[in-house]
Amino acid sequence: MPPQNDPCAADQTPNPSGDQTQAFLDSLPEIGPGQSFRFACHPGVPCFGACCSDLNLMLTPYDVLRLRRALDEDSRTFITTRAELAVAPDTNLPQLRLRMSDAPGNPCPFLRAEGCSVYADRPGACRTYPLGRATRPDPEGGPGAVRERFFLVQEPHCRGFEQPTEWTSDTWLSDQGLPAYNAANDRVMALMARIKESGRPANPKHANMALLALYQQDAFARFLADMNVLDRLDLPAERRAAILADEEARLGFALDWLEMLIFGPTETLRPKA
Ligand code: SF4
Ligand code: SF4
Repeated sequence: MPPQNDPCAADQTPNPSGDQTQAFLDSLPEIGPGQSFRFACHPGVPCFGACCSDLNLMLTPYDVLRLRRALDEDSRTFITTRAELAVAPDTNLPQLRLRMSDAPGNPCPFLRAEGCSVYADRPGACRTYPLGRATRPDPEGGPGAVRERFFLVQEPHCRGFEQPTEWTSDTWLSDQGLPAYNAANDRVMALMARIKESGRPANPKHANMALLALYQQDAFARFLADMNVLDRLDLPAERRAAILADEEARLGFALDWLEMLIFGPTETLRPKA
């Protein structure tokens, strides 16, 4: 049974510039391909809900897209009321962290007695636990492809490991709906890695544009229309229509567009000749 209201321990953050995250993962037992682990989280476990408080929970652009849409909030409201804005030191790009509630113990604002109130759209970090995921570029897999490794984050207070349900990393990822999250997050990390490798952190104009394009799909759509941005790009009609109609496609475009703004034309996006 999928843990329909798994509150999850989300204390492993998807930190795109995460050297510290990598070192943390390397200290954990690795779950190789096909290797199994036992875990389940449901209202019957004695610790249910205990791990959703006082978290340092980074929100990726795709997390924000999913949460904001599920909550039916505009991006400005979401960012000002639900998030804390920070700047990634290596890239100068904006980062959002979920604002914990002010109630005693600082619980996640989405935690309820019955579980996670945004379960269907909970952040990727909440889905990934009890695994940790490390990636590196896969030169044989084409542009943007990554190789994955998985680690078991077995926290002492978590009683989910006493449950008999067996998983492999593949079955866990699939069960938790992670492929869409990981695909989107890997693209963000690739852009951040390229900026970091360049040794030139984003300038304020690019950083502001990143906040708009990555985290505010509603306002970014208006910007694209008002500034006729798509008219000036070499885009197939089908992709152009998808960018206007679909937030996921728009986020993918946003990453290509930011890369073009910062580094010049790329294989996936260039100005009209
Ligand atoms: S979003 Fe849901 S699963 Fe994640 S920390 Fe909050 S209550 Fe827990
Ligand atoms: S079983 Fe683990 S993940 Fe589930 S509520 Fe308990 S501590 Fe959190």
